[in-house]
Amino acid sequence: MSKNKQTAIVPIREENYAEWYQQVIKAADMAENSEVRGCMVIKPWGYAIWENIQRALDTMFRETGHRNAYFPIFIPKSYFEKEAEHVEGFAKECAIVTHSRLENDGQGGLKVAGELTEPYIVRPTSETIIGASFAKWVSSYRDLPLLINQWANIVRWEMRTRLFLRTAEFLWQEGHTVHETEAEAMEETRKMLDVYATFAKEYLALPVIQGEKTESEKFPGAVTTYCIEAMMQDKKALQSGTSHFLGQNFAKSSGIKYQSRNGEFEYAWTTSWGVSTRLIGALIMAHSDDNGLVLPPKIAPSHVAIIPIYRSEEEHEAVMSFAKELEGKLKQLSFEGVKVYIELDDRDLTSSERNWYWIKRGIPLRIEIGPRDIAQNTVMIARRDKEPRDKESIAVDMLPSYISETLSAMQEGYYQRALVFREENTKNIDDKDEFYRHYTPKNSKQPEIHGGFANSHWCGDAACEEQIKNDLKVSIRCIPFDAKEEKGSCICCGKESNRRVIFAKSY
Ligand SMILES: [Zn+2]
Repeated sequence: MSKNKQTAIVPIREENYAEWYQQVIKAADMAENSEVRGCMVIKPWGYAIWENIQRALDTMFRETGHRNAYFPIFIPKSYFEKEAEHVEGFAKECAIVTHSRLENDGQGGLKVAGELTEPYIVRPTSETIIGASFAKWVSSYRDLPLLINQWANIVRWEMRTRLFLRTAEFLWQEGHTVHETEAEAMEETRKMLDVYATFAKEYLALPVIQGEKTESEKFPGAVTTYCIEAMMQDKKALQSGTSHFLGQNFAKSSGIKYQSRNGEFEYAWTTSWGVSTRLIGALIMAHSDDNGLVLPPKIAPSHVAIIPIYRSEEEHEAVMSFAKELEGKLKQLSFEGVKVYIELDDRDLTSSERNWYWIKRGIPLRIEIGPRDIAQNTVMIARRDKEPRDKESIAVDMLPSYISETLSAMQEGYYQRALVFREENTKNIDDKDEFYRHYTPKNSKQPEIHGGFANSHWCGDAACEEQIKNDLKVSIRCIPFDAKEEKGSCICCGKESNRRVIFAKSY
C-alpha cells in the first residue's frame, strides 16, 4: 500500500500500530475511556458486537449441555485464602470493599463508615464463590456432571489499560463444571477449548492455534491450562480464550465432595473456562485496515447501509420511497443463520460523508440509490473488503441473493486472509542468533512491525523460558496439541528437546 494514499485512519498501521488501534475504535465509535480510571464505556456499536458474541457462544454452551446461573460479585476474603496459588495469582490486582456506609463529614462532604468485619473482594474470577455453592449442590455421583456458565463483569485492578484488551473492569463468561472422574473433567476442558476455537473460526473469522500453556503461564490454581492463540496484524499473539483443568485443587479448598458409586465420599474434579470482551480487541486487530474497522459479517451489528442520494425535494421523495421499500425487502434476509440488519441513512450529510461513516464502522455492504438507479431499477453496491470507490451496479431483483452470497463470501475471505497472514509470519527457527535477530526491532525507539510466531525447540526448563522473556519480551504462547515428536535442541540452552513450541510477543 502506497504511503501517500489518503486513509480514514491516521496514523496507519505501519506507522504506529498501537495508536492506529485506538483511532479505529474512536472512528467506529465503539468505546471510550471513562472518567473512572482504567474503566471503559462500551458504546452501542461496540456493545452490539459483544451481544452477538454472547448470543453465538451461549447457543454453543447450551448445545453442549451447560446452563446459565448467576453468583455474587463480592467474594469474602476468607474464600480466597483457601487456595494458596490462586490468591498469589490475583493478590496484586484486587479491588476490595471494606466499608458499607457513607456519613456526613460535617464539612459538606462524605466519609466512609461502617467498616466490615470481613472485607469483600470484587470478583476477579469466581472459582471460590461458585465453589462454595457447588459444595452445597453436589452430594452424590448422581448430581454430576454439573455444567454451569455465568455471564458477568470482572474487576482486575490493572495499572496500564487499553480499550478492550486490558481494562480494570471487563465483561466475560466463565464456565464452571464439576465431574465424577479426572478423565471426564479433562474431556470437558478440551471440549470447551474446541468450542472456543470453532467460534473464533466461524464467527470471528479468526484462525487460532490450540495448545497447552507452560507451567509459568497457566491459571493460578489450575493443574493444566489450555488456550487458543491468534496472530494480530502486528504479528503479536493474543490469547483469545482459556480452558482450565483444575484437578481436585478447588474441590478440596471449597469442599466439593460426592458420594461415589461404591458409597464412599470423594472429592470431585472441576474445570473452568472463559472468554471476555478482549475478543473485540482481537477482532479489531486481526481484520481492520487503514480505513477503520473491518467486521466479519456474522458478528457485525448491521450488514447493509442504504445511502439515498438526491438533489431536490422531489428527488428526495422518490428516492426515499424506493429506499424504504428496498429496506423492507432486505430486512427479511438472512445468511448462514444470521439475520441481516439494515441501516437506512438519510441524515443531512453528503453521500461521501455517509459512505465514510459506514466504512469506518466496518459495515460489510453499502448501497447507494439515486434517481438514475430508480429509473433502471438498479442500485450501486460497495463491499468493505474492496477499495472504498470500488462500486458495482446490481439489478434490484438480484440483490437478495447477491447480499447473502456476498456476506458469506466475505466471512470466508477474512478467515482465509488472516490464515495466510499467520502462515506467512510463522517460521521454524533453530538457530539462537537468528531467533534473537528475529525478535529485535531495527529501530528500538519506535519499533517497526516485526517478528511473528517462531516454532522453536524448548527443553522444558522454566529458566530458558524466563531468559527469553527477559531478553526479548517473547514468551511461549503454547505447546500446540498438534506439535509432533521431533528431536532438536533448545533455542535457549541447546539441550535436547522433543518438540517445538510457539514463541511470540504478545498482548
Ligand atoms: Zn533450554
